[in-house]
Amino acid sequence: MIVLRKFNNFSLFILLILPISSKFNHSDAVDNESCYDKERPIDAKNKYLPEFNIEDGLYQKWSKIFDAIRLAHQNYSEPYIDKNNVTSCTLFLPSIDSDLRYFEENFGSNFITEELINKMIADNRGVHYQIVGKRLYRQSNCMFPSRCQGIEHFILEIIDKLPNMDLIINVRDYPQVGRYFSNDQQFPILSFSKEVTSYADIIYPAWTFWSGGPALDIYPNGIGRWDLIREKLLKTQSKLPWTKKKNIAFFRGSRTSSQRDPIVMLGRSRPDLVDAKYTKNQAWKSKADTLGDEPAKTVSFEDHCEYKYLFNVHGVAASFRYKHLFLCRSVVLNVESDWIEFFYPYLKPWIHYVPIDKNFDNVVEVLEFLNDNQLLASRIAKRGFEFIRDHLTMNTIRCYWQNLLTLYSDRIISYRPMKPDPNLIEIY
Ligand code: UDP
Repeated sequence: MIVLRKFNNFSLFILLILPISSKFNHSDAVDNESCYDKERPIDAKNKYLPEFNIEDGLYQKWSKIFDAIRLAHQNYSEPYIDKNNVTSCTLFLPSIDSDLRYFEENFGSNFITEELINKMIADNRGVHYQIVGKRLYRQSNCMFPSRCQGIEHFILEIIDKLPNMDLIINVRDYPQVGRYFSNDQQFPILSFSKEVTSYADIIYPAWTFWSGGPALDIYPNGIGRWDLIREKLLKTQSKLPWTKKKNIAFFRGSRTSSQRDPIVMLGRSRPDLVDAKYTKNQAWKSKADTLGDEPAKTVSFEDHCEYKYLFNVHGVAASFRYKHLFLCRSVVLNVESDWIEFFYPYLKPWIHYVPIDKNFDNVVEVLEFLNDNQLLASRIAKRGFEFIRDHLTMNTIRCYWQNLLTLYSDRIISYRPMKPDPNLIEIY
């Protein structure tokens, strides 16, 4: 009886509403009839965006790129931000989940035993840390002391909320856990960056949010604390509206990967479009390391903001520059790569940045497109800027560490150290 009544109500709903709703659909389709794509309906969320209201001639010229932009918008929804909860970083939980799930699926839940930790310590791919009784301990030597300091700063801030555990944290640039390694060599090591298709390291927020970033002549103590650079860049960009920026794509950096060569070469052949030069790093020996030219003068992050388009391309691992470039409120030209830090997967092509093919096939076309479509370009710059400004704060980093270590301990560790290892020193 109830089923029948439900059915009747539903039938009534179909009979009454369907003609009205199809009428709405029809009028929507007419109102928003796209001048370039009459096949696909435009959903209500997007119908007023300039990205969806393109004049005919312009669409004919750039149809491939407009279609990519439109698709990106159709597949994107704004992340939820709990403005009342300043310590929330739930947006990034899927990254922690997928990093841990790899180990759970391959080795089982709570598979880390004391024996495995001892094997990892002997293997020496990372620094041994221990949390016991709300105190932090570490092996006495750290290969890069300021990197360890940048890690310890955040762990100490949340130590009261963490259970006892052992951790092996890689402070080298390169990840340590190849998915292609034999199973007995795949250790649950924490690293700041990985190339996702080949490495399974569990990602933590890089030390450089606090200390240990690369040192340059203009930043002799490293590129500096994220909260301080954020403030500077937020001020700089507020004085540099889009229209005052130079209509050119910019890159300065060292040759940490030959993947960067095509940008520098393009700078030489098309100086009207691109200003890209290699600078010196500590490994520089001769002009061969700057592709035959003298090293260029280093340029501060603030001075990057004078340009409308800023290249990001990975070096040895993901480059720390990525987050800074967004805060210029310029368009980030991100050369596609599988190298990530924890926040990379949440930045989307054509929404927050402009994707450049790995082989650079589309770079000239994309730059000409952006020059031709300044409103769209400035809107991508704004969305990328707002994402980093709102979601990548010091609170986010602290919160990510807390979620990471809590879930790491709950999901893949099977034992708790009860006393600190006497070989370790206490970190305050
Ligand atoms: N950098 C800079 N100005 C320069 C050269 C480099 O601000 O003129 C920054 C760059 O953005 C990055 C860091 O210094 O955050 C190291 O850059 P490099 O190219 O040496 O290495 P990467 O880490 O990008 O591979």
